Amino acid sequence: MPPSPFSTSTTSDYTVTTVATRKTSARYRVIGQRSNSPSPIAPATHGKWRIKNSRGLKIVQSAELNGLPWLIHGFSTRPGGASKLAAERVLNLGFTDWDEGKTVQQNRDKFQKALGTKDFALIPLRQIHSAVIHPFESAPAQHCPGDASISNRSGLLLATQTADCVPILLVDPRSRAIAAIHAGWKGTLNRIAQKTAGEMRKHFGSNPKNLLAAIGPAIGGCCYEVGTEIAANFLSQFANAPEWFDEFRTGDEPNPVQWLNMKPPGHQPPPQSLLLDLRKANRAQLVDAGLQPQNIFVSDLCTACRRDLFFSHRKEAGHTGRHMSVVGISN
Ligand SMILES: [Zn+2]
Repeated sequence: MPPSPFSTSTTSDYTVTTVATRKTSARYRVIGQRSNSPSPIAPATHGKWRIKNSRGLKIVQSAELNGLPWLIHGFSTRPGGASKLAAERVLNLGFTDWDEGKTVQQNRDKFQKALGTKDFALIPLRQIHSAVIHPFESAPAQHCPGDASISNRSGLLLATQTADCVPILLVDPRSRAIAAIHAGWKGTLNRIAQKTAGEMRKHFGSNPKNLLAAIGPAIGGCCYEVGTEIAANFLSQFANAPEWFDEFRTGDEPNPVQWLNMKPPGHQPPPQSLLLDLRKANRAQLVDAGLQPQNIFVSDLCTACRRDLFFSHRKEAGHTGRHMSVVGISN
């Protein structure tokens, strides 16, 4: 019998705190709603999420993935690094134009040490908002262009970099295989999460029914405004797309999602912009791929709402750091 992915690890050398979720801002609540009632577009949390404090860093982790003793994973956060962003010290893990390469490398080393993966080969990709998926048996000589990586080899640390986009980690507890996925709106539209589950089946014989998925901190449906042309793209591709969008509202609209549900859209002037819940879209895609809903764990931490913890490309007008979300097999 493989170990249960749902048991909680009892050995740890770090302190663990439960992630505190802040209430969504009142800006997009419908006027007239009771102030203590949940926002209609608040993302649902699935699974248990923790913040691991290690070597001065805070690392977001899924408790369910932590239950696998051979697996190491983590979603990095903003505080604790050597990079200087305005007057703040931050853990920038991406080679951005405002930061020095050696500082980023120093941050990456610190992050790997904090996770206990100092000797792992870190494998980031040259991300291009595609649905290109790379299988790795060893670390490549240079960064491959693409947005997802898969492996069943130990000692490799698959990595995806984000600053609002959705980081997704997939794990097959049966065949001991892993994946790291970068899903922005383009990758989501190109079904990168669904395709990665397919690649795991092709390369490792992974049955999607056994796969576990951790969808990490990303910009939430509370903050991610997109134009109606993006909404139209999603509506043309996915039957359940109306469930992932909401109108940016003032509270005066008689039927806020009417535009989305009309077929064809355009019988009344469309809204200027809409709110897209990318995590919800990716969760739906993974269910379509055959994953069991109870095996998909979704963090509800919004990178734009929680700038004490995260970088937000949108909220910081592009001048910010990058998180790294990693997964590896330890033996
Ligand atoms: Zn938000």
